[in-house]
This record gives sequence, structure tokens and C-alpha cells, in this order.
Amino acid sequence: MVNYKDLGLVNTREMFKKAIAGGYAIPAFNFNTMEQMQAIVQAAVETKSPVIMQVSKGARNYANATILRYMAEGAVAYAKELGCEKPEIVLHLDHGDSFELCKDCIDMGFSSVMYDGSSLPYEENIKISRQVVEYAHKYDVTVECELGVLAGVEDEVASEVSHYTKPEEVIDFATRTGCDSLAISIGTSHGAYKFKPEQCTRDPKTGKLVPPPLAFDVLAEIEKKLPGFPIVLHGSSSVPQEEVDTINQYGGKLPDAVGIPEEQLRKAAKSAVCKINIDSDSRLAMTAAIRKYLAEHPDHFDPRQYLKPARENMKKMYIHKIVDVLGSDNKLG
Ligand SMILES: [Zn+2]
Repeated sequence: MVNYKDLGLVNTREMFKKAIAGGYAIPAFNFNTMEQMQAIVQAAVETKSPVIMQVSKGARNYANATILRYMAEGAVAYAKELGCEKPEIVLHLDHGDSFELCKDCIDMGFSSVMYDGSSLPYEENIKISRQVVEYAHKYDVTVECELGVLAGVEDEVASEVSHYTKPEEVIDFATRTGCDSLAISIGTSHGAYKFKPEQCTRDPKTGKLVPPPLAFDVLAEIEKKLPGFPIVLHGSSSVPQEEVDTINQYGGKLPDAVGIPEEQLRKAAKSAVCKINIDSDSRLAMTAAIRKYLAEHPDHFDPRQYLKPARENMKKMYIHKIVDVLGSDNKLG
């Protein structure tokens, strides 16, 4: 049993309180590889931003749970080495699908977990969420729960259709589960294909897809019911067109990939939304840089040669999100 405090990590409680009061959101970046971890830490240190490093069940299967936990511990030490005296780094489980998985992560040093019972019947979701909260709070670990279903595919989490969170349920759910934050569904979606072309309109000038707007009226209703309560948005990559274009230019095939426009995320970050999850954008930034590098240097085969520009490209993207979209820069301490 390891407590996250011994690893130099923090939970989300203070971070969220400040984010809501300050009208910004904390970035939650998924990671699976060393290069992603390095890029996240470099970006957070350079911008003096708190950051949530999150691990999905798929990431645990890919990289190994023990390795990821040591990488998070290493992230804290690395941030200090880069000159950040008191880094604010959360290690968070993304989409925990059982009490056992959440417990396992808490026991190995996670400072925050998500229990996602959004696909279960309402009462069942409350029951297991409550169980996770009771266990987590014994160790001062914060818990995110979810109400409403997001469309899209994220590792093992997949749904064909989305169901907006019902504002009339949120008070009952938050009170009975005791959760610290609530992930809601207002039209964001997992993956790089967030919307089908028929859900979108096309920009007459560029021919690019324009996704349907987020349901800010539902968000406003939820904020009215739960004033000051931390709200989380999943599936909030914006799928930058330049990365998609680079991938397609150098042999990739991602037709009509579409994400959430950044101005909508900026608007959400100013509300009670205090955690915004970004995963696909990192995947796209990494893949675009690798494809371009390998196409331009067909004789190179040292992974360091193509992973270096990949890491740089991810770092640039993370800094852009922190400074230009979420507004979490210069918010340490
Ligand atoms: Zn998610």
C-alpha cells in the first residue's frame, strides 16, 4: 500500500476549488509512453500549470500498471529537476469500471480515481460510486463519477449514442454518492471521429466538417442545481486540422476526423467545468510528427530520431491547450 502523498502527488480538491473561482480548467492529459509523460511535465513546468496525468484501463494494459505508477512518481521528480519547486501533479485513473480497479489504483499511489458507472442503471451507478468514494476518502483520494453517456470510442469505453446528463438527477446523485466531481455529457465525445458527417454541417469555404455545438443550456442547468460543484468534460480533444492534414499528407488515412472547437472549450473552462480531458490530440500530434519525420528521412531507424520531434510536437500542443484554451497557466501555489 502506497499513499500518493509519499510520491509527491496531490489530489484534485484544492485545484478544482481554485479553478472554479478563477474561471479556468485543469488539463487532464492521458499518457502511456515516456515521451508523452516528458512532454506533459515540460509543458506544465514551463507554463507553471497544475496538471492531471491520467491513465486508462487500456493504458494499464499497454504499459503495465506498475510502470505507469513509477512514471508518475518520476514525473514529480522530473518537474522539480526542471526547476518547479512545488509541482501540482495528480495521478488519476480514467474510466475505472469496477470498485476493485479503483481500489487497486488507490492502493498503488493514485491521488484521484474516476469510477464510471454511467452505462449502469441509475441506482446501481450510485451504489458502486458510493462504495468507491467511501474507500477513496479514507486515504484522501478524490473521486470523479459520471452521469449521462458520451458517444464515441475510448479504449474499452464505447457507445454508439450519447445521452445528455439529466439536470434533475445531479443533486440526488452528487449527494448520495459523495463524489468530489461529476463528469457530464453535453455533447462532447470520445476519439478522433466525434461526430458523423451527417451530424455536422460543412464550411462552404473549406469543405471541412463543422460539429454541432455543445449543450451549454444543459451545463447552465447543472450549474444552477449544484453551484460551485466541480464539473468534468471528457472527450474534449479538438482534433487539430493541421495534424490530421499532416497525417493524411504522409500516408495516413483519417478522412473527416472532427473534434470539439477550442472556442467552445474556452467558454466551458470559464464555467464550473474545471477538468477537461484531452487524449486524441496527443495521439494525433505524435503520429503526425512521426509520419512526417519518417517520410522525410527514409534512411533513419533510430527511434530517438523520430520520437524527439514527436515529443516536441506534443509539448507544443499541451502548451497551447494550457495557455490558449484552458487558462491554467501561472496558477501554481
Ligand atoms: Zn473519457
